[in-house]
Amino acid sequence: MMKAFLNLILPPICPICAQGAEDGRFCQRCFDSIRFIKSPICSCCGTPFVAEESEDHLCGVCIKTKRPFSKARSIGFYEGNLLEAIHRFKYNGKTSLSKPLGKIMLDRFSPNNYDLIVPVPLHRARLKERGFNQSLLLARELARTYKLPIDYLNLKKIRATDAQINLKGKDRVANVKGAFAVEDDKAFDGKRVLLIDDVYTTGATIVECGKVLKKAGAKDIDVLTLARVVNL
Ligand SMILES: [Zn+2]
Ligand SMILES: [Zn+2]
Repeated sequence: MMKAFLNLILPPICPICAQGAEDGRFCQRCFDSIRFIKSPICSCCGTPFVAEESEDHLCGVCIKTKRPFSKARSIGFYEGNLLEAIHRFKYNGKTSLSKPLGKIMLDRFSPNNYDLIVPVPLHRARLKERGFNQSLLLARELARTYKLPIDYLNLKKIRATDAQINLKGKDRVANVKGAFAVEDDKAFDGKRVLLIDDVYTTGATIVECGKVLKKAGAKDIDVLTLARVVNL
């Protein structure tokens, strides 16, 4: 009743274009403008391939390198309206965007049997400055629907790092090396973990978090990010 009344006096709007939309969702036009990541992709790290007519297979990096996760998936390309929405969410403090952004993650991801959802942590200085961890807000949307616990305390970012987006390949790996640590190994021991982040840039952050979780005894790790930087 209350909700119906609120919708009447304050009709829900699209968080991107401010036109009318279904409550907590993007309007159809903005939704349709998002370029979603589809097969063929790397069956491990999820990077999309250019060739249209092929099946998912391992990419060159995943053939050569042992990955700490079983699969990493991203919902859309980090561009256009999705990039715009993530920027408003993250840098302009529009935390209400976690709802529509979380929904598009839920709509386009099939979960396995996870024990735990873990958001990629922020360093405390960054958390203080921003006031919230965007990955935790997204993780909450998933946890609510999947009915899974979230652990946002035991994976910690112990060293501040530069923004990955400003760095080149090798520097990104060095930038995050040793930046994460686990507080209590028992929290992850034998657990199947779904690791959540907002943007997958080169995967260096995810790989580093994955390694630390594996070392703490995590049995299996899948990764889900909202967007991915793709240079096709
Ligand atoms: Zn819109
Ligand atoms: Zn791969």
